[in-house]
Amino acid sequence: MNRAAIIGAGPSGFYAADQLLRAGFEVDLLDALPTPFGLVRAGVAPDHPKIKSVTRVYARTAAHESFRFFGGVTLGADISREELLERYHAVVYALGTATDNRLGIPGEDRPGSHAATEFVAWYNGHPHFAHQTFDLDCERAVVIGNGNVALDVARMLVLDPGELAPTDTADHALEAFGAAGVAEVVLLGRRGPAEAAFTNPELLELGELARADVIVDPAQLEGVPEPPDAIKRRNVEILRDYSRRSPAGRSHRLELRFLRSPLEILGEGDRGRVTGVRVGINRLVAGEDGGVRAEPTGEQEVIECGLVLRSIGYRGLPLAGIPFDERRGLIRNRGGRVESDSGTCRGEYVVGWIKRGPSGVIGTNKKDASDTVARIREDLEAGALRSPDPELSSPEAVGAWLIERVPELVTWEGWQAIDAHETALGEPAGRPRVKLVRIEALIEASRGAGARR
Ligand code: NAP
Repeated sequence: MNRAAIIGAGPSGFYAADQLLRAGFEVDLLDALPTPFGLVRAGVAPDHPKIKSVTRVYARTAAHESFRFFGGVTLGADISREELLERYHAVVYALGTATDNRLGIPGEDRPGSHAATEFVAWYNGHPHFAHQTFDLDCERAVVIGNGNVALDVARMLVLDPGELAPTDTADHALEAFGAAGVAEVVLLGRRGPAEAAFTNPELLELGELARADVIVDPAQLEGVPEPPDAIKRRNVEILRDYSRRSPAGRSHRLELRFLRSPLEILGEGDRGRVTGVRVGINRLVAGEDGGVRAEPTGEQEVIECGLVLRSIGYRGLPLAGIPFDERRGLIRNRGGRVESDSGTCRGEYVVGWIKRGPSGVIGTNKKDASDTVARIREDLEAGALRSPDPELSSPEAVGAWLIERVPELVTWEGWQAIDAHETALGEPAGRPRVKLVRIEALIEASRGAGARR
């Protein structure tokens, strides 16, 4: 029997698992966290429960008799790449992109200036971020970036407590949002309305918020050409509609401001809290790639604020020994086969954001994973997979090795116990679940011990 390890139990890991099981492989899916589902659990906004229901599809994959889950096992700390390569015919990296892009401007690391990636992980109860604090006790927040993550964090800041209450937002974040003073969020795009990376339903949602008026200055839509791309064209229509609205006098405001590049995050001295953002005003010019790029006009403005969330995309982190493309922030690969300077790395593959960069929606990873699995099947036919050590590679030997490395690892049954526990905690309040946010609590719950939060 051919055996594959997949490292990372997010959407791309699960789609790869499904495809490999269909191709007759036995699959071990490993994750650094005790819980599966990656960004579906720790990234998708809590007020988007429909998107999260995709986990039912992943649970069907997990029910396959040749599937095993090992949660709490970290590649590079508990086990090494070389050890994996000795034990499997194929190793698939589905690690996602764990960190944020940097603006590279002064003041970026002041207290009160945060990567949106961290804010998202915090309100979603990711155990590595649950201890962080975000000072929401300020009047105005600025969100930098014009993608869907920027929309998510902006929306979360102005949602009504009644809209948040029935969600699985982590309890610490529910409490902080409940006490927050933020009444205005300004979202900054460096290019114009026609270049924003929002998708239509997400942009439309802003117009339906219970307690926030969405504000767009009509002058920002003047002279905006009709984009050829249908999604962008619809974005412009929606923004035009927002620009014509009169504020309904709601308690909160969410303003979209375009053609603005942050130049400096302001505050007292080198380490003082954020007091504002100095932004440069741009105009659009034709770029070399046929697109449109922002060029500074030389004009500037200062937006006072007490919180800055930088949402300008994610990037991957390198792992010892695995060839990495520093410029793009992902694992070097050709169509999913990992590649080093000396050629293809036998038996090593990549799927998802760490393969192609942080783009697309959850479903995009299905096609992406099937492309990589097609390469694995070709290599299987050509006899180009790995030949693992028979003594080390049996399912029993691998299981014993992993338990020896991580005695508290969480199996699929362990995750089901966590799931049942979290769901039961949420039920009395009509919430889908109450997330456990400490690793120890998750491990305790995985043993069916009815862990405390
Ligand atoms: P994204 O869609 O790539 O957007 C990144 C934004 O950052 C762009 O507006 C980009 O502007 C801007 N940016 C980049 N560098 C900048 C700089 N130096 N200064 C100012 N702005 C800068 O990334 P994302 O929002 O992180 O989302 C990642 C992926 O997840 C996307 O495919 C997104 O659709 C998806 N997602 C989907 C959902 C959903 O479906 N509900 C929710 C969240 C995320 P330029 O265009 O000018 O480069």
